Parts: sequence; C-alpha cells; structure tokens
Amino acid sequence: MTNIAIVTGGGRGIGRASALKLAAAGYTVVVNYTANEAAAKDTVSAIAAQGGKAVAIKGDVSQEADILALFTAAEKLGTLKVLVNNAGVMDHQNRLDEMSTERIRRILDINLFGSILCAREAVKRMSTKHGGQGGAIVNLSSAAAYHGAPGLGVEYGASKGAIDVLTIGLGREVAAEGVRVNAVRPGIIDTEIHDSSGIPGRVKMMRDAIPMKREGTAEEVADAILWLCSDQSSYVTGSIIPVAGGRC
Ligand code: NAP
Repeated sequence: MTNIAIVTGGGRGIGRASALKLAAAGYTVVVNYTANEAAAKDTVSAIAAQGGKAVAIKGDVSQEADILALFTAAEKLGTLKVLVNNAGVMDHQNRLDEMSTERIRRILDINLFGSILCAREAVKRMSTKHGGQGGAIVNLSSAAAYHGAPGLGVEYGASKGAIDVLTIGLGREVAAEGVRVNAVRPGIIDTEIHDSSGIPGRVKMMRDAIPMKREGTAEEVADAILWLCSDQSSYVTGSIIPVAGGRC
C-alpha cells in the first residue's frame, strides 16, 4: 500500500523540512507549491536523493478548485494518510488601521480558508465514516495566535488563532473516526517568511525575547510535525504543541 502525505507549501521552509522527514518515514509525499516551482522541484529531488518518493503539484490553497485538483491528484497515487496544512503567509509590518481589505482577505484566504478546505478534503478521504482508513492532520499555528502580533500583523495573528480553534474543534469532531487533528505552534523559526515583514534581520532581532536565546530551525518544527503524524502520538488529538524555545 502506498501511503500519501500532502504537505501544502512543501517546497520551502518548514514545509520542505516536513516533506523530507515524512518521505524518510516512508510516505510518498505530495509537495504542493504555488509560485516557487524551482524550490518544490528541488525538494522532490532531495527526497529522491535520500531514497524516497515525492511529486510536486502546483496549487494555490486560497482557491477551492486548486485544492480539489490537488486532492484528486494525490488520491491517484495511493491512500491519503497525512495532511500537513503548512502553506502560510504574512505581510509587511502594519497596524490594522493601515491595512487594505485586499491584504486582510489574502492572509485569511491562504492561512485559514485554505487550511479549512484542505482539512475538509482530507477528512472526506481519511475518516472511517467515509470508508477511509484514518490518518493525521497537522495544522501550522503560530505564537501569534496568543500574543496577537500587535503592530506587526493582527490579521495574521487572528488567522492563526482560528487555526487553533479549528484544531480543537475538528480534532473532537473526528476523534472517533480514526482521524487525529493537531497543530504545532512555532515561535521564531529561521525561514524566508520573515522577509515579508519588511523588518531587516527580524529573526536575529528577536533572539533576546526567546528564553533559549536563539531562533528555531525548520527541522526542529518538522520533528514535532513528524511525531504528530506517527503512531507514537496515537492518543494525541486536538492538541497544540508549542515549538518555540520557551517563548510560548
Ligand atoms: P516560508 O518559508 O515563507 O514558506 C511558505 C510556504 O507556503 C512556501 O512553500 C509557499 O509556496 C507556500 N505558500 C504560500 N502561499 C501559498 C498558497 N497560496 N498556496 C500554496 N502554498 C502557498 O514559510 P515558513 O516559515 O516555512 O512557514 C510555514 C508555516 O509555518 C506557515 O503557515 C507560517 O505561518 C507558520 N509559522 C512560521 C513561523 C516562522 O517563524 N517561520 C512561525 C510561526 C508559524 P511557494 O514556495 O510556491 O511560494
């Protein structure tokens, strides 16, 4: 049986690290991307180089048609067992009263709407209620879900707060159907997402505010994601795990 793991935004950052670890654990990984085809293909090549299997599939998670096409393509490859709802964006540092409606909509469409629709499609395929064999969904929350990201992007914080609620609610909704739904809540992780804040050197700037006095790596977050996808966490659902060097 071929077990499939879909990682949205799997070409870069935390998504790439998760794709590599899931492939090493034996999954055939669907590396979703939206713009950076080269990064997605590089992730697929890196997986092949370590002896694993992966395909890159383009799709914008803010577009329902793209999500449906992504899941249809994935189910042709095997049985969907894992969804990592990783694709996420932030925007330039701003107060809410300076934000355009388009910006707010974009952040919510990608971070929240995309994750909810991907989770819906995953449950349709994984839940024993629908004839599925069970599986694991891992959502990407953020420390911003509880500190709110004031002055930086409260719409981003709100999108991640909603991810926490999605995780708790859906985790309970499908708990008896073989599907576990959890989230990781990264703190400051060294990826390219911080470039979009427009604050040069943001990651280094934040070090003092982190009890461990360092940023995290994408691999450290991916290790928690991998655990949540594995049988080692078989009694864990509706949980949100901080991976934040003690910051949350
Ligand atoms: P990243 O390095 O900027 O990577 C973001 C990924 O999301 C890219 O692969 C990108 O695809 C993909 N993506 C963006 N918009 C998309 C869309 N509309 N449809 C499909 N894919 C899309 O970011 P990261 O730091 O790894 O972040 C991953 C997740 O962790 C996000 O949900 C983020 O909010 C969360 N997080 C990160 C941190 C941190 O400090 N890094 C902290 C807390 C939470 P392309 O490559 O095609 O552009």
